[in-house]
Amino acid sequence: MSETRKLTDFFGRLTFNKREMRNRLSKKTFEELMEIIEKGGKLAPESANEIANALKEWAISHGATHFAHWFQPQRGDTAEKHDTFLSFTENGEVMESFSGKQLIQSEPDASSFPSGGMRSTFEARGYTAWDPSSPAFILKSKKAATLVIPSVYLSYTGEVLDLKTPLLRSLHVAEEKAYDVLKLFGNRTAKYVHTTAGPEQEYFLIDKEYYKKRHDIIFTGRTLIGASPAKGQQMEDHYFGSIKPKVLDFMEDVDLALFERGIPSKTRHNEVAPNQYELAPIFEEANLAIDHNLQTMEIMKQIGDAHGFMVLFHEKPFAGINGSGKHLNWSLADSDGNNLFDPGNSPKKTVQFLVFLSGIMLGVNKFGPLLRMAVADAGNDHRLGANEAPPAIMSMFLGDYLTLLLDNIAKGEITSATEQKFADLKVEKLPSVVLDNTDRNRTSPIAFTGNKFEFRAVGSSQNCAEALTTLNLLLSYGLDIMIEKIEKYSKGTEDIKEAALKAIKEVAKETEKIRFEGNNYSEDWHKEAVKRGLPEAKTTPESLKNMTKEDTVKLFEKYEILSKIELHSKYDIKLDAYVKTKVMEFNVLKDMILTRVIPSLVKQLNTYSTGRDALEHAGKTGKFLQEMIADIDAILEGLHAGLKKLDKTLAAVDSEACGLVEKADILSKDGNKLLNELRVHCDKAESLVEDDIWEIPKYSEMLFLYKD
Ligand code: ADP
Ligand code: MG
Repeated sequence: MSETRKLTDFFGRLTFNKREMRNRLSKKTFEELMEIIEKGGKLAPESANEIANALKEWAISHGATHFAHWFQPQRGDTAEKHDTFLSFTENGEVMESFSGKQLIQSEPDASSFPSGGMRSTFEARGYTAWDPSSPAFILKSKKAATLVIPSVYLSYTGEVLDLKTPLLRSLHVAEEKAYDVLKLFGNRTAKYVHTTAGPEQEYFLIDKEYYKKRHDIIFTGRTLIGASPAKGQQMEDHYFGSIKPKVLDFMEDVDLALFERGIPSKTRHNEVAPNQYELAPIFEEANLAIDHNLQTMEIMKQIGDAHGFMVLFHEKPFAGINGSGKHLNWSLADSDGNNLFDPGNSPKKTVQFLVFLSGIMLGVNKFGPLLRMAVADAGNDHRLGANEAPPAIMSMFLGDYLTLLLDNIAKGEITSATEQKFADLKVEKLPSVVLDNTDRNRTSPIAFTGNKFEFRAVGSSQNCAEALTTLNLLLSYGLDIMIEKIEKYSKGTEDIKEAALKAIKEVAKETEKIRFEGNNYSEDWHKEAVKRGLPEAKTTPESLKNMTKEDTVKLFEKYEILSKIELHSKYDIKLDAYVKTKVMEFNVLKDMILTRVIPSLVKQLNTYSTGRDALEHAGKTGKFLQEMIADIDAILEGLHAGLKKLDKTLAAVDSEACGLVEKADILSKDGNKLLNELRVHCDKAESLVEDDIWEIPKYSEMLFLYKD
């Protein structure tokens, strides 16, 4: 990249963005496509051909030889299958071709993607379909390039196999409901409502050379052993500290690559833990924001590799040190650019805002555990409730002013939404007051931060699509209730504000139990939550049980997000992933103990024995070394007993008679305990064995020292 180029000159250079579309498409097709991007719908076949051709020409101008449908299978990451543009004419000459059909649909060999038993593998009938609302982009490699087409992924019988399809459906439903509310409030100018999202990506960087020596990180994404260093994060000197040049170099390359892809990366900074960082984008339309976040993670890994870093997205790579999350900022905006979660500067706007707020409060009140479920996996279990991330109890934080306002409405002190009433309550300047006051509580899972919500329970490695789908679904559920109430109360009265206030009043009372302004990390809150009847699913298997409950199925089916079969298959996929992750952790730990930890202990034992013998030979007692030998012996005994238990657990989980639910149950309870037990012995060993013998890179090295 030349030094003199301006950001705006190359931003989005590698995406088929609006400008490219306008330049390369006929006016008619361009307008048709824009309409579909904004409101959804199907393309005419001729238009698809025209777009495919334009895309091909554009991609070839960037050196592309292949195209790929890019999709989000349920395992959580992304997948792609590349096809060449190459084809032959009738008289055998080579040419580059790409048809509308190829753009719109492709059929990857789908046999190995998780489907939760929905398809037999031999059928392998899955197809991907272009999602025109997310722009195609160029994936550059060393020598050539690939045109990448964001897609959904379905089975031939129409069942959902990915995370994007339910997201798109949920966006559609929530946006329609929100639009209905605008119309109810007399809005005649907005053409549509869009959901907006901004995921803040946290991550760790470690030197690749260390990574290569840590089989636990390679295979499970986290350290299964590792003694705490003398210095951890207690000084909090890393947070927002000056960024090391080597890291800044990496960040700059990441940002440049993101800008070329049209991804609006906004902030970069050091996070709380040593070697932990964050990248936050400027928010965008939600579907695009998700695709961009997935691309961001991919780009970070690639660029990290080129810089000699391994980028760790795991939720808890290091014990005893903060893990990583992905705060998901979420709001709604209409086509005129109004943020619908902005408290507004007139009573009417404020009441409309309170309707949206009531909508999501009703959703969380009834279906909060589904939000916990949307972020449930083995990695995130380490974070939630560990005093570094919100607990697994889903409550909402609204801030002093909104709480006051809702309490007053509930008490019946605001029955007419006039300027005077708001002034009396000192809330007439709601937007600015709210913005100034609401971002203080960092412990709440669902925090109102002035003009958006921040859902803080998403794990750093996760695709935010599931959390967003659930937020949209909960909002849709709540808005339906609000619309019904308002329509009922507005019969006979002209004033929509009055009718809405009546509805808000009911909701303010009904949803009291999920409003919590205090410290979510405190012990008291866990007790209080029990009193309030708010569930806390501490583990993934426990939380996933909600997936197939009758209420859940009804909700997902009512809004046509997922069917009963799809939910059941999703349950199996997630539980299976949990079990596999845990079994992998067991096996890796066992391997590390047998091939690294025990041999190191034995080597150390030999050194001590030699020393002790020498001392005895010199007529001394060698008592201290004898004690060290006894310590090593105790560790070996502990490991021996632990490994026996581990084998027994693995055998139990492996047995044919053990069903998936039971496996998950064993692993999440006794299994996790055992992992911790074994770890204690290993960490003792690490602190006792001399550096030259201990081959596994230590926390102190990975987190504080850089190799050059
Ligand atoms: P805060 O400091 O309150 O978290 P920031 O302005 O730093 O707020 O924003 C944090 C993240 O929230 C950014 O990624 C930003 O783009 C995103 N964000 C801001 N406004 C919205 C919105 N209306 N909808 C969705 N995300 C938003
Ligand atoms: Mg934030």
